Amino acid sequence: MKTKIEGPVRVRFPPSPTGFLHVGGARTAIYNELLRQSLGGSLVLRIEDTDRARSDQAMTEQILSALRWIGVTWDEGPTLQSAGVDRHRSVAWRLLAEGKAYHDFVAPEAVAAKRDEMQKAKQNFRYKDHFPPPSADEAKERMERGEPFAVRFVMGDEPIVVSDIVRGEVTFGDEMLDDLIILRSDGTPTYHLTVVCDDIEARISHVIRGEDHLSNTPKHIALYRALDEEPPVYGHLPLIMGPGKKRLSKRHGAASAEEFREQGLLPQALYNYLAFLGWSPGDEREIMSREELIGAFTAERLGSSAAVFDPEKLAWVNAQYMSGLPLATILEHLAPFLPEVGIDLSALDESVRARFEAGVDLHRTRAKNLIELASFAVPYVRDRLDYDADLCAKFLKQEALRGQLEQLIEQFGSLEAWTVESTEVAMRSVAEAAEVKAGVLIHPTRMALSCSKAGPSLFDLVAAMGQEASLRHLGHFVAFLRANA
Ligand code: GLU
Repeated sequence: MKTKIEGPVRVRFPPSPTGFLHVGGARTAIYNELLRQSLGGSLVLRIEDTDRARSDQAMTEQILSALRWIGVTWDEGPTLQSAGVDRHRSVAWRLLAEGKAYHDFVAPEAVAAKRDEMQKAKQNFRYKDHFPPPSADEAKERMERGEPFAVRFVMGDEPIVVSDIVRGEVTFGDEMLDDLIILRSDGTPTYHLTVVCDDIEARISHVIRGEDHLSNTPKHIALYRALDEEPPVYGHLPLIMGPGKKRLSKRHGAASAEEFREQGLLPQALYNYLAFLGWSPGDEREIMSREELIGAFTAERLGSSAAVFDPEKLAWVNAQYMSGLPLATILEHLAPFLPEVGIDLSALDESVRARFEAGVDLHRTRAKNLIELASFAVPYVRDRLDYDADLCAKFLKQEALRGQLEQLIEQFGSLEAWTVESTEVAMRSVAEAAEVKAGVLIHPTRMALSCSKAGPSLFDLVAAMGQEASLRHLGHFVAFLRANA
């Protein structure tokens, strides 16, 4: 029986700016946000940049931008972990003074050699079994001689039980209970120390993070206890695997939020999809907006079995959002993809802009992503389209077609009301008079208006294109047929 979490909560998302925001990290951020939004409280964003060599400012910006794009909001921060280094160090000194940590003068090479030796003998290695702490006198003497030392925390031998809200009780004993370095010999604090210090400082009540951190948790709990602090409630999320339970990578479409953004995925779809990778509302629903997720989210429903990333399912979820979001939202997310296809919205006059929007609205139900949607929108804003002779080979051979299309242009030109129905009636009457099936005119008209053989229902396309642009494109198309016949 899982214990119910009561709010308000203080949760955190602490990415290390050493790489892009991976989908696993994005999902962790989403669950923390959902917990905070559903129960009240605060989500603290902390950039864990203490690994100076591997962290970079540009990556921090990328991560923040990816989080904003996905739609994750936070209440406090971003704070930089590196700003707290003096505080972290003073906590290490305090533990040292209280005898809960000791000076470690052992050369890293000696530790590595011992570890290798034990590994070869197929035995577990624990530092504390081989390198006893120095006496106070020895430590003092060696310090005075200027010998470098690390500060190592005493783990104790008592098994540590983690009451995990996702996995239940997990007990860590024996080989997991080794003394650990909290301050390196160059004076830099290690992750274990900084994360505990900063979570204490931020009064974090719940730590929801990836399963890859589960083995760190007994260390963190021991540090909390040594500092006379109550540890937070932990929840470790199962890792996200690629199809076939392989490590998720670019081969599966993408691995970082940034890549999905570049591929023209809607952030609402990614948010929805990731929220379901390890959680479900317990009913049939699969499409849930952030607001609906907040309303339905309970941490008790977080699952512990490995989540498999399914690009096809994500594509399906994306398609639901491409069709279902308000047009204004689609237009907003489409904007960054327009320059690539040569569309400059600011240069469009009002009528062209309206036509462009009608086109976007029509094609969004068929476009896989925003990149495709941008290319579908091109014929709505361009004066003249470039037809491909190979793609049009069939139409070029139909001699009678040119005259029939001219008839169609005439009929279309005389229409007073330009609707799906009126254009269909007009086309059918031209086909009838020419004694051909409507399809003989439908396919070339589609090509004339969209440079494509497939697309939405032709009369929807014609209606969205409007009378002026439809006549213009048809006129150019007939000229193209004549020129290439
Ligand atoms: N900076 C760590 C990471 O990105 C955070 C770990 C934690 O949540 O404690 O994996």
